[in-house]
Amino acid sequence: MEGKVMKLFQTVGRRKIPGYKSMSLERELVVLDPKKVEYVYFPLVAANNVPLEVFVKEGDKVKVGTKIALKQQFSVPLFSSVSGTVRAIEKRLDVTTGRPCDHLVIKNDFKMTKEKPLKKVELDASKEDIVAAIKEAGIVGLGGANFPTWVKYNNVKDIHTILINAVECEPYLTTDYVSCSLNAAKVISGARYLQKAAGASKVIVAIKVKKEQACNCLKEAAAPYPDIEVREVPDRYPMGWERTLIQTIFKKQYDKLPSEIGVIVNNSTTAIAVHDALVEGSPIVSRIVTVSGNAVKNAANIVVPVGILAETVLNEFEVEEKEVVLLVGGPMTSNPAKDVSFALTVCHGALTLLEKVVYRPVACLRCGSCTAHCPAGLQPIEILRAFEGRDYERLEKLETLRCVDCGLCSYVCPSKIEVTDMMKKAKTLLRVHQSRKK
Ligand code: SF4
Ligand code: SF4
Repeated sequence: MEGKVMKLFQTVGRRKIPGYKSMSLERELVVLDPKKVEYVYFPLVAANNVPLEVFVKEGDKVKVGTKIALKQQFSVPLFSSVSGTVRAIEKRLDVTTGRPCDHLVIKNDFKMTKEKPLKKVELDASKEDIVAAIKEAGIVGLGGANFPTWVKYNNVKDIHTILINAVECEPYLTTDYVSCSLNAAKVISGARYLQKAAGASKVIVAIKVKKEQACNCLKEAAAPYPDIEVREVPDRYPMGWERTLIQTIFKKQYDKLPSEIGVIVNNSTTAIAVHDALVEGSPIVSRIVTVSGNAVKNAANIVVPVGILAETVLNEFEVEEKEVVLLVGGPMTSNPAKDVSFALTVCHGALTLLEKVVYRPVACLRCGSCTAHCPAGLQPIEILRAFEGRDYERLEKLETLRCVDCGLCSYVCPSKIEVTDMMKKAKTLLRVHQSRKK
């Protein structure tokens, strides 16, 4: 029965939610004055808790684009975003893991002296050379996933389509919209490299309906290439989630990875990074961040160097003088930050400030709304019961680990129960249990 219920709901777990996108689109893109960034900070421990290999030491001079460290798992290099001097290694909060960890501190000399460019690669290079160049450039999923892009393309077979995801379905966030509007030609150029790397016959760039400006720019940039299609998809949450997007476009499901059905998905900002690295020789040293939310008076997108502190970014914005919650990302999937002293990495594309609202949850009405809306086809309320009873077997049977933290179950709950938070706890409990069994 549970399997049938899951399949039934896999096609309906999506919902129209308010976007509030216009808030950050009313202002032009802001470029932060580099002179306001005295120091940049790079976490030296990866999410899997493994320390990075560090190539510089205190007192060393670096330039913009100097390779400073390497994430050992999947071999992902990090590059300095300013020119200057390595000052220290100090402990700071790493907002990705929520724990303090060593950070490399670089003092900006404000000269922005550039390192020599990365090796450029022509589009007619071999698949292997393109994948190697993507690896050398340290490109990771810039939609927030942070997964190394080269790994998705390494020795892949039977890929027919590269799906470029410019859907950006979370409220308030507009970095993909802005970057697609301003850099559509780069999106298409990067997508063509990815197409070549996978040997795919087609590229689809997916964007939500009513995003006219970005959509028109993408269509114009894609016009010379008959194998590249810009596809508008419904404005439903979570349309940007890989499974929902693939179900919508290909009417197919997969078990673990989209490559099982011949598709590789990359974010549109990742495609831009591929162009920047392979065509222009530039690694990712800056990015666009959306600063928005109902507690921000002058929301905008802002270009900042990687490694900047959140507080330096927020100094550029007027925040309501009320009790405010800062989310690193969008309001559906992000957790509140404890303070503003953390550094932004390449995968942080948004700071959302919301007026603090305290909900008083009441008892579950057993209305089934969380189940009906879950895009992963899960039954959150049954999972919560199993979690409370520490029933590991049932947690496994209910496929708890398929939850993608989309936040929709909390959003729709009439009892204001933090269902998503409880799902996260259930997943942690199950993972710990499974690791102990091994
Ligand atoms: S947070 Fe998890 S359980 Fe809740 S709706 Fe999203 S995928 Fe389903
Ligand atoms: S949506 Fe809320 S009230 Fe309804 S079944 Fe789920 S947890 Fe209970």
